[in-house]
Amino acid sequence: MDLKLKDKVILISGGAKGIGGAISNGLIDEGAIPVIIDPSKEEGSKILERAPLHSMQIPIRLNNASDAEKAVKLTLEKFGRIDGVVNNAGANDSVGLEHGSPEEFEKSVAKNLHHYYHLAHFALPHLKKSQGAIVNISSKTAVTGQGGTSGYTAAKGAQLSLTREWAVELLPYKIRVNAVIPAEVYTPLYQNWIQTFDDPEQKLADITKNIPLGKRMTSPEEIAAMSIFLLSEKASHITGQHLFVDGGYTHLDRSL
Ligand code: NAP
Repeated sequence: MDLKLKDKVILISGGAKGIGGAISNGLIDEGAIPVIIDPSKEEGSKILERAPLHSMQIPIRLNNASDAEKAVKLTLEKFGRIDGVVNNAGANDSVGLEHGSPEEFEKSVAKNLHHYYHLAHFALPHLKKSQGAIVNISSKTAVTGQGGTSGYTAAKGAQLSLTREWAVELLPYKIRVNAVIPAEVYTPLYQNWIQTFDDPEQKLADITKNIPLGKRMTSPEEIAAMSIFLLSEKASHITGQHLFVDGGYTHLDRSL
């Protein structure tokens, strides 16, 4: 299937590592131009060297609105167009209701949510010209809960809500907006998290045995495949959807 993504310019927050890294690499495979917004220069440069003239890294952490505005400006200066946005950067930071404070909660929500809005907002005039697409990477914790991570799940739930809200608002411009929902994906972030347990290997085994399809983690490339499809015109009648790519973890009977 030709996804017709050649020379399409796609912004990916957190595009140097993990799920975002797999999306950047997958876009290069399709002849598209990933713009990696991620402070991790070393990992980013490994991706850029696969397509030096057809990729770009903006090595910043999206904190304030002005960071997203800058990323959009630099992209336009170099490539003159924007065809898609993948809002992906985020981290499960364990700010809970019991173990947490109002200040930590507010910071966690801001860190995981605000830049999703900022990037979409500043890219919008250019997405209108290209009739582009937005993909929001959320998390199954938004629909199942996890416990002990109020800030993160509040942000992840809001991302799902904004996916529907933006899909409606952007109908007149034919800009499609969808969310991809991963559950258990072995990325650098996940690796760090699993190491916080006394017996990381046992913890990993306890988790994978509950993943119905194949009793294994989802790969970053499997999340990337769905995200890249949703960015492409082959997904031309899909909008406002929440797509679970999780080996059945969220919906199937895990006692099977
Ligand atoms: P990851 O391995 O940590 O990769 C994320 C990348 O984003 C890192 O390079 C990180 O840099 C960068 N980043 C973080 N905050 C940023 C910001 N504000 N601006 C720019 N770059 C930023 O994470 P991942 O596991 O691939 O997760 C990606 C997304 O999937 C997140 O939204 C996460 O919530 C979601 N998700 C993941 C899983 C999973 O099992 N892995 C499950 C459900 C949902 P630093 O390392 O320097 O911070």
